Amino acid sequence: MGSGVSARELISAVFVMNVLDTLREQVTNNKALTTYQLVIKLSAPGSIEIGQLGEFWFPAGHYVYTGSARRNLLARVQRHLQLQKTCRWHIDYFLVHLDTCIVDIRSSDTPECRLNQQQPGKILVPRFGASDCRQGCGSHLKYLGTL
Ligand SMILES: [Zn+2]
Repeated sequence: MGSGVSARELISAVFVMNVLDTLREQVTNNKALTTYQLVIKLSAPGSIEIGQLGEFWFPAGHYVYTGSARRNLLARVQRHLQLQKTCRWHIDYFLVHLDTCIVDIRSSDTPECRLNQQQPGKILVPRFGASDCRQGCGSHLKYLGTL
C-alpha cells in the first residue's frame, strides 16, 4: 500500500462505523441482545501468545469468538474493535496480533454458551475465553478453516 496505512487500519475505519451503527440500532430495539459473535480473519498463520494460556500456532483462516456483555454490549464490542489496548482477556491477545481482523459482528439473545455450542468449528486452543464458562464449552473460540 505504501501510504503508511495498513489494510488492517483501512478495513477497520469503514467497518467500525458501519458495524457500530448497526449494533447500536439492534441493542436499542432489543435489550435482550447480550451475546455477540466476532468473526475474525487471520490472514497469515502464526504463533500467538494468549496470555496465561501460553503460545499457540494458529492456521490462517476464519475464527468465531462468542462472548457476552450483560450490561453494555456496544462498549464491549467497541473495545474489541480497538486496534491497540492493554490485553486483559484471551481474545485481546488474539485481536492485537497484526494479522487478525474482525470481519463481521453478530448480536444474539441466545445465551452465550448455547450459541457457542451451536456454532460449528474446531477447537484449537482449549479454555480460550472460557475461564468462567460453566457449560463445558471447551473453548469460546472456534476455527472455521479457510472459507
Ligand atoms: Zn461456554
